[in-house]
Amino acid sequence: MKSAANSLEHHWMPFSANKHFKSEPRLVTEAKGVYFKNNRGEAVIDGVSGLFCTPCGHGRREIAEAVHRQLLTLDYVPPFQFGHDLSFTLARRVAELMPGDLDYVFFANSGSEAVDSAMKIALQYHRAKGQPQRTRFVSRERAYHGVNFGGLSLAGMVRNRETFGSTLPGVSHIRHTWREETRFVRGEADTGAQLADDLQRHVDLYGADTIAACFVEPIAGSTGVLVPPKGYLERLREICDRHGILLVFDEVICGFGRTGKTFGADAFGVVPDLLTMAKAITNGVVPMGAVGVREPVYRAVVESGPAKGIEFFHGYTYSGHPVACAAGLATLDILRDEKLVEKAAALSSYFLDQVYALRDIPIVTDIRGYGLLAGVDLAQADKPGARGYEILQDLFNGGMLARVTVDTLILAPAFVAEKQHIDEMLDKTRRVLSRHAQRAGLKLAS
Ligand code: PLP
Repeated sequence: MKSAANSLEHHWMPFSANKHFKSEPRLVTEAKGVYFKNNRGEAVIDGVSGLFCTPCGHGRREIAEAVHRQLLTLDYVPPFQFGHDLSFTLARRVAELMPGDLDYVFFANSGSEAVDSAMKIALQYHRAKGQPQRTRFVSRERAYHGVNFGGLSLAGMVRNRETFGSTLPGVSHIRHTWREETRFVRGEADTGAQLADDLQRHVDLYGADTIAACFVEPIAGSTGVLVPPKGYLERLREICDRHGILLVFDEVICGFGRTGKTFGADAFGVVPDLLTMAKAITNGVVPMGAVGVREPVYRAVVESGPAKGIEFFHGYTYSGHPVACAAGLATLDILRDEKLVEKAAALSSYFLDQVYALRDIPIVTDIRGYGLLAGVDLAQADKPGARGYEILQDLFNGGMLARVTVDTLILAPAFVAEKQHIDEMLDKTRRVLSRHAQRAGLKLAS
């Protein structure tokens, strides 16, 4: 080993500009409420709830104490063929929150694992129903379903896929829902539901009885917040029902209140067959992912298995980890007791008003938003992503942490944020974006 013990060299950072980061690091040392502290001791407001995962704010004592207690009571138990109370309690609590007969929960440790688990559940469900030939998946352009090979195959974000050669066979992509005429539309666009008919075209092309499931994020988050057009998800549901295809909502970002309702499924009034979640389920403090499963799907798989044998050959060493479950239960208590989903809904219009007010800055080319989630497209500079990356750095240096994908800025405040925090986030954003516009020689419309 060549370098000093405190060097930044040895950690190969995920989805990061490693070389540049290590020459100009952005380090955070503490977090409380809606603020981080950087390594110079300065406050940095959290504009994106960590990575969409801390709706209850940082440093929640109730969660820390639950985790601490759990570590001293039962730190680990193998999840295969053995159990502990907390995973059953958390599954019941999550089932109570999910709409319709989404009554069962399969635990994983991340959104990516939840997605891959959902793909396997779909395959096994059809096998149990006597249709093992249903092995195709349909997802969307610009989708993000995590980075494991299953989710990567579903994904429609080009940079995430292009390096890794052939992904799973039998996955096809329908169009995303962004259209020129929906620029600056707030919430759901009135038009565009017919884009869901792409699914019918794939049914016509491949045969309904070859398709296992259709995966969509209710709001496509990581690609820059694409809100579904009115009636779009209903139409997908109808087509899936007509052809026996499972509809899967990937709610890793939308789940647990981001839309102002508990799930995107509630916000848009459509119940999927499987619902993947992660992130906010533990307020981001312990890794956890999960798949919500409709009762008939669970029954079909479990009842087709042997009387005393394993029905589903899938699971993780840390599925339903006691410490993650303790964090999850404490998080659900906070969301319920502090009525945080209602609070998110109440704060949404103030937040969106301020985000949409950025429209007058000439480098802003589109804004989309729903609930406490917004995407702001920035005019590309010389190379895709160059402006976005500079803005990420300038925001951080100016005291705000935000998310940027390519040239889209994404904001997602914690549900405990107050109006003054939204003001601070948007003031900082406006200042940085205006400076970039000036530098590019563009003036604010007066
Ligand atoms: N699915 C969606 C919709 C996501 O937004 C993400 C992450 O942002 C994932 C899956 C992957 O989650 P993880 O990073 O926990 O694997």
